Amino acid sequence: MSSQHSARPPSDASEFDYVIVGAGSAGCVLANRLSADGKHSVLLLEAGPKDTHIWIHIPLGYGRLFKEKSVNWMYQTEPEPELNGRQVFQPRGKVLGGSSSINGLLYVRGQHEDYDRWRQRGNAGWGFDDVLPYFKKAEHQQRGPDQYHGTGGPLPVSDWRHADPLSEAFVVAAAEAGIPTNPDFNGAKQEGAGFFQATTRRGRRASTAFSYLRPAIKRGNLHVETSALAQRLVFEGRRAKAVEYKQNGSLRTARARKEILVSSGAYNSPQLLQLSGIGPAELLKSHGINIVLDAPGVGNDLQDHLQVRVVTRCSQRCTLNDVVNHPLRRVMAGMQWAALRRGPLTIAAGTSGAFFKTDPRLATPDIQIHFIPFSTDKMGEKLHPFSGFTASVCQLRPESRGSLRIKSADPSVAPEIRINYLATETDRRAFIDGIRVLRKILAAPALKAYADEEVYPGAKVVSDEDVLEFCRQTGSTVYHPTSTCRMGNDPLAVVDQRLKVRGIEGLRVVDASIMPDLMSGNTNAPTIMIAEKASDMILEDAR
Ligand SMILES: Cc1cc2nc3c(=O)[nH]c(=O)nc-3n(C[C@H](O)[C@H](O)[C@H](O)COP(=O)(O)OP(=O)(O)OC[C@H]3O[C@@H](n4cnc5c(N)ncnc54)[C@H](O)[C@@H]3O)c2cc1C
Repeated sequence: MSSQHSARPPSDASEFDYVIVGAGSAGCVLANRLSADGKHSVLLLEAGPKDTHIWIHIPLGYGRLFKEKSVNWMYQTEPEPELNGRQVFQPRGKVLGGSSSINGLLYVRGQHEDYDRWRQRGNAGWGFDDVLPYFKKAEHQQRGPDQYHGTGGPLPVSDWRHADPLSEAFVVAAAEAGIPTNPDFNGAKQEGAGFFQATTRRGRRASTAFSYLRPAIKRGNLHVETSALAQRLVFEGRRAKAVEYKQNGSLRTARARKEILVSSGAYNSPQLLQLSGIGPAELLKSHGINIVLDAPGVGNDLQDHLQVRVVTRCSQRCTLNDVVNHPLRRVMAGMQWAALRRGPLTIAAGTSGAFFKTDPRLATPDIQIHFIPFSTDKMGEKLHPFSGFTASVCQLRPESRGSLRIKSADPSVAPEIRINYLATETDRRAFIDGIRVLRKILAAPALKAYADEEVYPGAKVVSDEDVLEFCRQTGSTVYHPTSTCRMGNDPLAVVDQRLKVRGIEGLRVVDASIMPDLMSGNTNAPTIMIAEKASDMILEDAR
């Protein structure tokens, strides 16, 4: 398969106005917006292949991509001290569309207060009122436009195309447990229980490769290279000039006349900066890397959402376990998707859910519940042979901070990932209290008709100590690493408010790694917003 996507042949030293490293949630947005007016030439480099894998396009297929190494970096953390020394599996997309091609498709922006907090931390231009226009610009909202939503943007945002009584029962049960129903988690406020919306178009996944890159791919000024792993950035003094990348065994160089935009995600962006000589001096020296800039903040402040899953045996044969484990029902579900793009194959990481506070003194919710009508021992593995459903507890604003460090000067060696989940008392308390509230919902009358017995943690796990121990034994990621190239004004901040790498010319980082801190929701829509806003800033600066 050719790894080029335009007529222009690559040469050993090609020159473009912009070189983007990484065709993920952010990179595909940049590629579209920067090439739109035809004035600038753009090269988009992607380490993974084209997005031809069939399970990318079927929403439920996300479970099949968890451990699909042809499209997934499949990282692991180092042993996590507060998770009994367990390593936590970290899937990341390695394909056109990046993680938006393998993610759980939920469209959640976070809380207005998240962005106002970013602004309060000194990031002018990143308050909620500033970023809302970019969420709207990106969006094509199925329900139509309103104060909070846009239509006509590239990114389809849709309601699920599968009516699931169990997921509805969850919302009713939450109301019975005192959590009001909220028809729109991305509207006036996030708090409450309701249905998620998804980045799908008529029952198919809408990754950024689908929604942003595909419409732009035929432009003569946009050039895309797949299976192209950026090795390092090349500098003249402190100005970024070129990207060296490896493709089909050959080392190539792409020069940037205007700027290099690193959009390789929260793990690979700081890795690439460190490999290129921008990072903590001691670390770089220990790997024999020439120091371009001693930037101790590169790779710091890694944050992620932890989730702890509560699995319930269902008394009715209405779960996805029953569909997947029954040959005829499985075939029928496949046919329903193929013919109508409807049915169980159109759902992904959560159907309904809830946002609530574990402490009334909090200003906004600190817990998110993802409800899904199937169950499994571990995400990405076989569904249980019995009827079951899952509701997971996720703490929205963890205090724990980790780090990302290269382990080698060789770009093909995976970096060292330390997240330090559950490192603070606040974080541990949030999970204990979150599980207590979730159990109240699961015991409410509307779910009584479905809930047979709690499989995990199980009826014997009651005390705070035992619940916490369960979290330590089973907690896993919700796949939202951020903040390793954090935006800010302090000495450890990596990029400024225009996402320019501080102390370096001609280089920006544009992806989830620039978030000043982890926002209270799922990270795909915010990353797309960041890239929309960055595109405007880059084009403004080019004038
Ligand atoms: C399994 C999973 C489920 C998720 N579920 C949801 C969800 O339901 N809702 C939600 O909002 N968010 C979800 N997320 C998170 C969300 O998808 C990510 O936060 C978002 O996609 C991050 O975008 P990004 O642009 O920062 O990085 P990515 O989208 O990961 O893009 C980085 C790209 O850079 C490429 N790259 C890296 N290094 C190099 C290099 N050296 N050279 C060339 N290319 C390189 C990668 O291959 C990748 O394509 C999920 C993520 C995963 C993995």
